[in-house]
Amino acid sequence: MSKKIDVPIYWKNPYQKEIQANIISVKGTSIQLSQNLFYPGGGGQLSDTGSIIIDSSEYSVVDTNKNESGIWYKIDTKDEGLLQKNQDILLKLNWKRRYSFMKAHSAQHLVSHLLEKICNCDTEKANFEEGKIEIIISEKISLEQCINVLEEANALISEGVEVISIIVDQETYRKDYLEQARGKESHEENVRLIQLGEKGLDLTCCGGVHVENLSEINGIFLESLKEYTLKLYVDKQGMTYANLQRKLMIELEDITTKKGSKLLEMINNKIEENEILEESNVSLLKMIFNKIKVWSEKINENNIILLSLPEIERQAILASLKELENDVFVALLGRNEILYIISTDERLSAKEIVKTIIDKTGKKGGGNPAFAQVSVKDIDKPFELVKSILTS
Ligand SMILES: [Zn+2]
Repeated sequence: MSKKIDVPIYWKNPYQKEIQANIISVKGTSIQLSQNLFYPGGGGQLSDTGSIIIDSSEYSVVDTNKNESGIWYKIDTKDEGLLQKNQDILLKLNWKRRYSFMKAHSAQHLVSHLLEKICNCDTEKANFEEGKIEIIISEKISLEQCINVLEEANALISEGVEVISIIVDQETYRKDYLEQARGKESHEENVRLIQLGEKGLDLTCCGGVHVENLSEINGIFLESLKEYTLKLYVDKQGMTYANLQRKLMIELEDITTKKGSKLLEMINNKIEENEILEESNVSLLKMIFNKIKVWSEKINENNIILLSLPEIERQAILASLKELENDVFVALLGRNEILYIISTDERLSAKEIVKTIIDKTGKKGGGNPAFAQVSVKDIDKPFELVKSILTS
């Protein structure tokens, strides 16, 4: 014998934007209503906000939450007499925000499904902002695997796969759904499942709000993949982000073909600001070394480059050396006021220049003809010193 299940509107019709209701209880500035339209939060998805209209005045609903006694709406008012039991009101959803969460949350179902299918990787946790998803995964995956997941996700979005809501009692769930469902087991009296596609591409227990068709998501875009955290953008926010990233790349490409210190300044600022990983320093140095001649000045027919990169360390330089252009002489002032001399110009020996600096200053250092280093702590203008040695 199955009991009749009381299905909330945010499950039955997640596209409904407003509803007439009656205040059934009041506690401070929080109220309970005869009809519930707002999602009270859960499963990483934030609760709905919006407004209520009482006697043609509009008040913000700043939060919605659920406890044993039901769903409570927190109203932004200082007027204690405003909220009265039995009062008729109109409840209006902040639709832009809700729809954005519906898209992001549905996108997460799709990505979590593909992460399991392609990478054998579970979703530990998911967090949402408008147009943004953060997924904590159980295994580290490669960037390439991640791109494969997103490619397949976007293909299914283009196909227009349906998102189907199934609500059954616990007994039916155990009998017909438990075995094939992804993710955590439900112990609720009534179980709500979300299925992607008619044939059951993905099936998982979820009480959140979703779009009816994956095509509404429009697209999923990668922001970052670090350790166990995958960050994604969806829909318009994703497209804007992708275009901004491309703009940055084009600007960078433009700058690197020009002579000047702009790119270096920019890179340095970024390194300082974001504490970019050592790995990224290597990539940046490789990029600089690869096009380094654009910053060179001629001293005695030699290509001389003087670089100040105060966050760069010896290890990063060594890892990037292969990329250095031929016939250049680089003096790079790195972390802890260490001056690195790197030479791909047979006429100029890094070892000899460093030896001269040591003779002149009494500092410590050494190296070979291609790569040498010396401390320049407390030396006023190390580059001037290098230049004077080169010109003499
Ligand atoms: Zn869901």
